[in-house]
Amino acid sequence: MTSDVRVRFAPSPTGYFHVGGARTALYNWLFARHHGGQFVLRIEDTDRTRYVPDALPDLLDGLRWLGLFWDEGPEVGGDHGPYFQSDRLDLYLQYAQQLVDEGKAYRCYCSPERLDAMRDAQRAEGLSGYDRHCRYLTAAQVADYEAQGIRPVIRLAVPTEGETAFDDLFRGHIVVNNAELDDLVLLKSDGYPTYHLANVIDDHLMEISHILRGDEWLSTVPKHVLLYQAFGWQVPIQAHLPTILDPSGKGKLSKRKKKLADGRDMLTYVHEFKQAGYLPEAMVNFLALVGWSYDGETEFFSRPELIKRFELERVSKSPAAFSYDKLDHMNATYIRGLGANDLSGRLLPVLAESGAAADIDTTLALVPLVRERLRTLHDVVPLTDFVFGEAPSYDADLLLQKGMDRAATLGALRAAREALASAGRFDEATIEERLRGVPEALGLKLGAFLGVVRVAISGRKVSPPLFGTLAVMGREKVLARLAEAERLLEGAA
Ligand code: GLU
Repeated sequence: MTSDVRVRFAPSPTGYFHVGGARTALYNWLFARHHGGQFVLRIEDTDRTRYVPDALPDLLDGLRWLGLFWDEGPEVGGDHGPYFQSDRLDLYLQYAQQLVDEGKAYRCYCSPERLDAMRDAQRAEGLSGYDRHCRYLTAAQVADYEAQGIRPVIRLAVPTEGETAFDDLFRGHIVVNNAELDDLVLLKSDGYPTYHLANVIDDHLMEISHILRGDEWLSTVPKHVLLYQAFGWQVPIQAHLPTILDPSGKGKLSKRKKKLADGRDMLTYVHEFKQAGYLPEAMVNFLALVGWSYDGETEFFSRPELIKRFELERVSKSPAAFSYDKLDHMNATYIRGLGANDLSGRLLPVLAESGAAADIDTTLALVPLVRERLRTLHDVVPLTDFVFGEAPSYDADLLLQKGMDRAATLGALRAAREALASAGRFDEATIEERLRGVPEALGLKLGAFLGVVRVAISGRKVSPPLFGTLAVMGREKVLARLAEAERLLEGAA
């Protein structure tokens, strides 16, 4: 199916890829896929002062991680390129010149000093914006400035009367008085376009049908509408997405780090979610619901279902809070839904990165033991590091369980070691049977006895299910840990 829907995601490489940007990219992508249209990626890199070299690879990695592949743009090309604005400077120059030639824009030679003084004067009178000094220069004055070698900017000659109106799919009909609009700069004196000029020209030349972006850009639309009108171009359909709020619902989800109620950092960059062990499919499902719903109830959608159901009519008009709890819940659910091979394949690199000498067979064997306990992939590390690493170091007192002294604990360790050393097989069922047979003869409670074994092998009071974990670790390692615990306890006397 082909359609006329062409949407774009147009980030500026001025910082890392933020989840708010990811939500915008996702909605554009879903909208394009739903309609069989095209999703264009355009890099708005004309602000050289704010350029961050790492930002582009971070963005492309993040989009790929989320599976938001673009039909046209960097690396893939397309019929409407180039897709980096810095490679399109000649175009902007040419179109700005066209507007000057048609009397719809003009060169402004005002020095920074004059602009400062003007602003002060304007402020004193309660006015703002450029006073249009250069809009009405005579030919002789222009020639004079040119003779002085002053490099002008180009400004749009905004109508001083009348109104500019447009419709936004979510915000409705918006009207502004032209008198409130400034003669905005289109081209800077260094020949670089402003955001406004480049954005409008590119959306037109790239035949963008719908502009879906964050509502912080809403205030730029009247200026853009005037530019479209000046060029005689059709304005793309406008759809400004609701603001994303932090979990409290009070402030915007900003780039500044805040803490969650449980003390964790509020993650905001896409790579941070990846690093922390969120699954891309959970992230996509979650982000889709930050400002959109299908029926107000259903929470879980596969990617094909999202594509099928995603309609702009169901995008909310009010700001949407970003709930980390909901994301965690969703991620845990997605993790539980993964097949064992799939999950172990995702856990292995996380374990390896943590420094654990993990191998795929052991990781696969651990999957049934840890799957229910993972909120993120990363949670596997503290749960299982003792399985792979050396014997953990812990305080001998940790071995002592309620109602047990040193002697009883030593007896328990010895008995556990003997029971496991003489077990015929070392699988979960045999281990369970052997260990359950021990405590009664020693006059110990089962829970306390197993508590001793747990600390001896893991150095912790909490671990994944014990019998299965012991089986995965193997007899040799388990016996060594039990013997090590005995030595630790004897030494602590
Ligand atoms: N370059 C702008 C940004 O950084 C694009 C805004 C738009 O989509 O028009 O988000």
